[in-house]
Amino acid sequence: MDFQLPPEQEQFRDSVRRFAAKHLAPGALDRAHAVAYPFDVAKKMAQQGLLGITIAETDGGQGGTLLDAVLAIEAVAASCPRSADVVQAGNFGPIRVLAEYGTALQKKKFLKRLLSGEAVISVGMTEPEAGSAVTELKTSATPDGDGYRVNGTKIFTTHSAYAEVILAYVRYGPGVGGIGSMLIETRAKGVKIGRPSAFMSGEQWAEISFQDVYVPPEMVVLKEGGFKKQIAGFNVERIGNTARSLALGRYAFERARAWALERRQFGRLLAEFQGLQWKFADMKMKLDAGELLLYRAAANADRGLPSPDETAIAKAFCNQAGFEVANESLQVMGGTGYSQEELVEYCVRRCRGWMIAGGSVEILKNRIAEGVFGRSFSQRQ
Ligand SMILES: Cc1cc2nc3c(=O)[nH]c(=O)nc-3n(C[C@H](O)[C@H](O)[C@H](O)COP(=O)(O)OP(=O)(O)OC[C@H]3O[C@@H](n4cnc5c(N)ncnc54)[C@H](O)[C@@H]3O)c2cc1C
Repeated sequence: MDFQLPPEQEQFRDSVRRFAAKHLAPGALDRAHAVAYPFDVAKKMAQQGLLGITIAETDGGQGGTLLDAVLAIEAVAASCPRSADVVQAGNFGPIRVLAEYGTALQKKKFLKRLLSGEAVISVGMTEPEAGSAVTELKTSATPDGDGYRVNGTKIFTTHSAYAEVILAYVRYGPGVGGIGSMLIETRAKGVKIGRPSAFMSGEQWAEISFQDVYVPPEMVVLKEGGFKKQIAGFNVERIGNTARSLALGRYAFERARAWALERRQFGRLLAEFQGLQWKFADMKMKLDAGELLLYRAAANADRGLPSPDETAIAKAFCNQAGFEVANESLQVMGGTGYSQEELVEYCVRRCRGWMIAGGSVEILKNRIAEGVFGRSFSQRQ
């Protein structure tokens, strides 16, 4: 077992760090408070080869590993926490599912614009009555000629206010076996994007309703029986959420550490108070432990999809650790940490969301417990 990165991965991480320090650190605070998706950043990242890191070269990607993409998130977030979302969108989310299961025609139609940073794709799973119990989703795909008519409502969808295309989870028939997915363009007739709402993090989402939307057969990604594959692909998205939780926790930690080495009270540096030293020691232990779990899940996946169990353990731990570290860093910085002049409060708000998004901490712990006891526990009555 080797806990060092191979030299080429270290070089890659360092090159992304330099890129981020030069191009993304300036304007990082404004970017965090801007509502719009940073398409300018996405285009710069595309030129730098940071979109499609894990996607095959034949599909226009870089042919790298999942760990490479994790390293990119960390290196970008160290300079600009908000820009880490662009690494997520270009590598971990529905774009990865499209690259994994999409047809040549679907990839040709969408991947080029997504990988050039000109467009973004959303995943629409959650519905008003189907949150944690996502298999209760109602959005229906009814056969119509060669294609389907889709009806239903999606909520909380990240990027929904401006996404070009949605990877929508739909129901072709009853039960878990009836679930699959399709690509629906947001400009398609019958797609209605509602009034934008904001999460506590400032990110916008809008209700998406599908009203008799015709979806041609070539836009089907997974048919009936596709749910397991869909969730296997979604575990990549979870790794991205895990990496951002830890990376934003680390950003806040580094800011607080620097602050503790310059701020004086009672005639001493904050770093000299033992009560604060122990907070830093606790934070450091959480960050290091989280990193090991995250790297294990990503490295074992290599060029494939990560293990559900390792992903659940890494995500539940890092979601909690990232939030706790960011929150404690804010405390160490006092009123300055709580102020919007600093990005630490932003990190706290973002980390809070990942404890809910992409499989809440509780749902992941249910999964971990199933592994512990070697049996499944139905959550239904
Ligand atoms: C920042 C953010 C981004 C998101 N982005 C997307 C997106 O891009 N696409 C998308 O489809 N959705 C997205 N979501 C939605 C997200 O997936 C859901 O919010 C999540 O699945 C939880 O569903 P819910 O909000 O309906 O809560 P509920 O399912 O109603 O759960 C409420 C609480 O009960 C707990 N709970 C529920 N069931 C159990 C159980 N069996 N055991 C123990 N505890 C349980 C939950 O953990 C939670 O704490 C996003 C959410 C957030 C916050």
